[in-house]
Amino acid sequence: MAAITSCLVCQASGLELLMHVRDAGIPHEASGHNFAYASTLLLACQQCGSGILQKYSHDCWNYWEDEDWDMYWWYVLDLTSMQTIRQLLETCPAAQDPSCNCTLHLILRGSETIYGGIQHANAPSSHADFARLTIVQEGDHSKLQLVQKES
Ligand SMILES: [Zn+2]
Ligand SMILES: [Zn+2]
Repeated sequence: MAAITSCLVCQASGLELLMHVRDAGIPHEASGHNFAYASTLLLACQQCGSGILQKYSHDCWNYWEDEDWDMYWWYVLDLTSMQTIRQLLETCPAAQDPSCNCTLHLILRGSETIYGGIQHANAPSSHADFARLTIVQEGDHSKLQLVQKES
């Protein structure tokens, strides 16, 4: 897995890795790898401030006409959501630990149940398709929600 290195919104390079959100399985290049690996990262653009949630899924169970080994999806978080995220980040004891169960880790892992309707990419590209997410308040809880495209 590689993390995206330039911003999907403003194309600037220099993304900051804010959080390792989720990890499942063992990476392909590591010993003990068993076909599948998934990982979710949160990055932030130092130029425009947008947040970028990267979801990665690897599956090398390879057979005839199987789908791609490596699949990436990206979600962009608006500046208001990033304000909330940066506040919550202060309360996370281990931002680079995907097994952390703090409020922000749990909110961002909620992205697993969101389907953005975007085409996956096979490698990071700053011109990739992406969907938009925002953080909404629901009672005492915050959660991620897909921003519907305007038609
Ligand atoms: Zn940017
Ligand atoms: Zn945490």
